[in-house]
Amino acid sequence: MPERFDVIVIGTGFGGAITACRLAQAGARVLILERGRRWTPETYPRRPGDPWLYWHDHPDKHHGWLDVRLFRGMAVAQGAGVGGGSLCYSSVVMEADPERFAEGWPPEITYEALKPYYDTLGAMLGVQPIPERQRTRRYELLRGAAEKLGYADRVESVPLAIAFDPDYHYDLPDPIDAKHSKSFVNAQGVRQGTCVHLGNCDIGCDVQAKNTLDLNYIPAAEASGAELRALHKVRYVAPIGQGYEVFWDVVGEGRLRPGSAQADRVVVAAGSLGSTEILLRSRDQYGALPGISRRLGSGWSGNANFLTPATYPEQVAVEQGIGPTISAGLNFMDGKIQGQRFYVEDDGFPNLLLNALGVDFGGRTGRLAKALRTHLARGLDEKNPARQVMVWLGEGLDAADGRLKLRRRFPQLWKRELDLDWDVSRTKPVIEAILDMHRRLTEAGGGRLHVPPYWQLLRGLITVHPLGGCPLGEDIETGVVDHRGQVFNYPNLYVADGAILPRPTGRNPSMTIGALAERVADLMVSGEAG
Ligand SMILES: Cc1cc2nc3c(=O)[nH]c(=O)nc-3n(C[C@H](O)[C@H](O)[C@H](O)COP(=O)(O)OP(=O)(O)OC[C@H]3O[C@@H](n4cnc5c(N)ncnc54)[C@H](O)[C@@H]3O)c2cc1C
Ligand code: SF4
Repeated sequence: MPERFDVIVIGTGFGGAITACRLAQAGARVLILERGRRWTPETYPRRPGDPWLYWHDHPDKHHGWLDVRLFRGMAVAQGAGVGGGSLCYSSVVMEADPERFAEGWPPEITYEALKPYYDTLGAMLGVQPIPERQRTRRYELLRGAAEKLGYADRVESVPLAIAFDPDYHYDLPDPIDAKHSKSFVNAQGVRQGTCVHLGNCDIGCDVQAKNTLDLNYIPAAEASGAELRALHKVRYVAPIGQGYEVFWDVVGEGRLRPGSAQADRVVVAAGSLGSTEILLRSRDQYGALPGISRRLGSGWSGNANFLTPATYPEQVAVEQGIGPTISAGLNFMDGKIQGQRFYVEDDGFPNLLLNALGVDFGGRTGRLAKALRTHLARGLDEKNPARQVMVWLGEGLDAADGRLKLRRRFPQLWKRELDLDWDVSRTKPVIEAILDMHRRLTEAGGGRLHVPPYWQLLRGLITVHPLGGCPLGEDIETGVVDHRGQVFNYPNLYVADGAILPRPTGRNPSMTIGALAERVADLMVSGEAG
């Protein structure tokens, strides 16, 4: 007989970590399944040969840091590991504007209804802006350019889930060094350190200054008895008696090993792509959940993400690789620019060249390794070519008209894989407004914009904010789940992550995803969803 639990939670990102924690704290026997591995500062990918990527179709062989999916016209990057997207995110945690809930959401979910959950989440994540004395060069570059364009009143210091030391500043001797990080034990009993601006936020914070979910909600869930199994990739869910059976493959053993467990209640929280894929497979491939809404897969959004690199002359201080990856924002959500609603941020990127240089190539005497080392060293000796690059991030309200589906894989026609129907036409105006703003900001700061060729030539986009696929709705005709996150036609089966957002947030979405997950868990615990 398969093992039996009160609740099985699939995924450990904002949806999964939060629901698992709250249900375990309420006394439920919880099993948490996560397809990725548990990461620690000792195992974060750093060297060229490290496990950087999670290959969704070969997780047995490659179960690394980031899952990058390539669809026609859209590439999606998402986290893969215990902590989900919080591991690799830039720690920007912003509430959505109250007006966002006016249309397209079930009437029960308003900003006012979500506010207590935003507050609970904000307290757990230790949200605060970067201290004034620690503002990065990129922050100042954004602010200076905005001021020149007359947008000074739109500049915001974005809320960050990072532990800062108010006494830290750049005038310290050798400031970008772990020796300045102050160690402390957080409310969940986990040791962390304060931020020393290493700039590695997206590839794992070496001093554990980012308040990631594996340092707060997940330890809290485990302290309340939840059992977490990493490297368990769920295939599908099927109803069985008074509950559900969840079928998975264990990855990481060089081959896939199947298994399953049963529970009274199941929370699917595998992210926008992951949750939608699990339900699509459950309905269309295994025929186990045939009554799921026809809206499954619909309303998919990339939150109008757009990244544009810009280069600056030597006299402009950029230092893209230093400090929190994002700390400044420019708010155009009022729709006053070309009638589009969007938000612009300074986006650094980890200085992979520097990281790679730290590699001990001693053990690898191959010619390629030697050549790489020489090449990198030369690049850094003369001038670090990435130092003068600033990456502008834009995010906004796109058309949210993508559709996820399963399609047969060619030539292995017996296999089905996740696919995305994405037509950029209705999203193009907001992308062009963002691009135009990136250009104006770059020129105001004395730099040169480089429009990415995938947009210029192919009208392709890259997003790190996938949303939708299992939208909230008032009934089965308008949504896949009700306002409590419960799947229409399937009592005690829930979705509680970015997949349920029926509309993009425009701003960074994790805070809204987390607040919705707090609400789903709260209603499950109070019995309103039973
Ligand atoms: C580089 C980067 C930077 C970002 N920066 C920010 C930011 O600063 N602010 C912000 O708000 N957002 C940011 N995001 C987006 C943010 O990470 C996501 O919006 C958020 O994590 C989504 O939460 P979720 O719970 O929906 O899904 P996720 O956090 O993606 O969690 C889903 C989890 O389910 C697991 N999973 C998937 N499929 C399966 C399966 N079949 N079986 C078992 N487990 C499965 C995944 O491995 C993952 O751990 C960033 C994303 C990236 C990639
Ligand atoms: S800037 Fe560095 S120290 Fe600060 S949170 Fe990011 S990775 Fe950690």
